[in-house]
Order: sequence, then C-alpha cells, then structure tokens
Amino acid sequence: MTNTFHAPAPLPPPSAAVDLSGRTALVTGGGSGIGRACVLALAQAGAVVYVVDRDADAAKAVAEIAGGQAHVADLADPGAVDLLPAEVDILVNNAGLQHVAPLTEFPPERFELIQKVMVTAPFLLMRHVLPHMYAHGWGRIVNVSSVHGLRASAFKSAYVAAKHALEGLSKVAAIEGAPHGVTSNCVNPGYVRTPLVENQVRDQAAAHGISEGDVLSNVMLARSPVKRLLESEEVAAAVLWLCGPHSGYLTGASLPLDGGWTAG
Ligand code: NAP
Repeated sequence: MTNTFHAPAPLPPPSAAVDLSGRTALVTGGGSGIGRACVLALAQAGAVVYVVDRDADAAKAVAEIAGGQAHVADLADPGAVDLLPAEVDILVNNAGLQHVAPLTEFPPERFELIQKVMVTAPFLLMRHVLPHMYAHGWGRIVNVSSVHGLRASAFKSAYVAAKHALEGLSKVAAIEGAPHGVTSNCVNPGYVRTPLVENQVRDQAAAHGISEGDVLSNVMLARSPVKRLLESEEVAAAVLWLCGPHSGYLTGASLPLDGGWTAG
C-alpha cells in the first residue's frame, strides 16, 4: 500500500515522451481498430504487449508488428480469461461488438453476448491482473467505453447498457485500486473510423431506411459539434497518456473524446 503522505517518484518533464520500458500491457480486441492502435502506441512507448483477440490471424499480425505476443481468446467464454497472462501492468479493456435493433426486436442472446464480452470479461480480467498490480504498487486500467457510456441512442440497448456498466466497474476499480497505485479510467470516443463503425453505418442505413452517407452526416455526427469521425490513433494517444507518469492523479474518470457531443 502506498504512503498517503509520500510524494510520487520524481516526474519527468511534462514534454517528455511516455516511457513504458519494463512494463507489460494486455489489450483486448488488439487485432483491429482502436485496440490495434493502442497496441502499437504502447509498444512504441516500450511496453511488451499481449495482443488478445478471437481472430488468430489478426492478433498474430499485430503482435508481429508490435514485437509482442498474440493470445487467441473468445472473451464471451469466461474460462478464456484464466488462460491469459496475469503478470500485467497495463490492462486495456477494448474488445467490443455492436448490435442495432429496436428493443422490441432485440435478440436476447445477442444482448447477453454483448454483456459477456463488454462487462463480464473486463470484470474477470481485472480480477485476473489486479493481484500483480497490487503486488507491484503500480497499475493502469483503461476501459475503452464510449460516448454511449454517458449518453443513450435508440436501437443500441445492449451496447448502451454494457458501456454504462463498464463505467461503474471502472469507478469501483479506481476506488479499490487507489491505495495500491492503480488507476482506472474510461475513454469515451464518439464515432471512430474502424470496421465496427463501417458495419454500423451499413446497419443504421437499413434500420433508418436512408443512404450510408446520410447515416454519417444526419445520424452519427448529428450530435457532434466536430463534424468528422475520430481516428483510432487519437484514442490510442489518450490511452497512452493515461498510462504515463503524469496521469497518476486521474482515476475514476471518463475522458470524452466525442467532438463535443456530451457538452451539449
Ligand atoms: P473493431 O475494429 O470491430 O475491433 C473490436 C475488436 O474486438 C475486434 O478485434 C474483435 O474481433 C474483438 N472482439 C469482439 N468480440 C470478441 C470476443 N468475443 N473475444 C475477443 N475479441 C473480440 O472495433 P473498434 O471500433 O476498434 O472498437 C473497439 C472498442 O471501442 C469497442 O469496445 C467499442 O465499443 C469501442 N468504441 C468504438 C467506437 C467506434 O466508433 N468505432 C466508438 C466508441 C467506442 P473480431 O474482429 O474477430 O470480431
């Protein structure tokens, strides 16, 4: 347990690059989109990164570029977490999926799957890695939530419920982890240019009966004052900063990367 009255270790200048040499990081959904960008950013900062994905080829390809290790796991299976490395200093809970349908037509099994991957797996992973973090007096948990962890949208009951649950889980981890030098935060992106969003544009076009271009401008970006998609690298940069030496006092927070959506 850290001494309450102790100053932290001397900090590098605020302009210094984040140095994660000697740290290990585990990124779920690391084979694609935001997860892939996080893996590369953490690896470039010097961390050894475990790339967890259910897609073996994607995990291997990203691990190879990052000089890390690929771990194939279906996070819908609670037993899969036990087989993953536990000696982890940085946990990025990123794997996720979406399903768009009105509540009245939402398939219950799809709802359950989304909770398993996006709530139960992050909980199990925290249980799995926190003992190592506590033993070393340092840890960073970054939960890739969403603007939908803070706001709701029609037709996304499972996703909105899961992201709101992740927000609560992250705050509990922040409170329990604080005496052990472990922070837990969420990042809350608006729409990011990834395969998940490309699929959603198609699904929303079908749900609303409009063109894919109109989905982007009239549906997805309607509530965002900044009228463009976010890039994965912008999310990864925020995740990297949350793992760096200057973010130890920020915990239990939700960092909106939403182009001003939640300001309105
Ligand atoms: P993505 O490109 O589809 O990546 C998601 C990754 O999670 C994929 O590699 C996927 O593997 C993996 N995954 C899904 N189910 C899994 C399971 N059961 N076990 C293991 N891995 C699984 O999506 P993304 O846009 O980068 O999303 C990453 C995170 O950001 C998600 O939590 C998402 O909710 C959040 N987010 C995204 C946006 C956005 O606009 N894109 C906005 C806010 C928040 P497969 O490829 O095999 O399915």
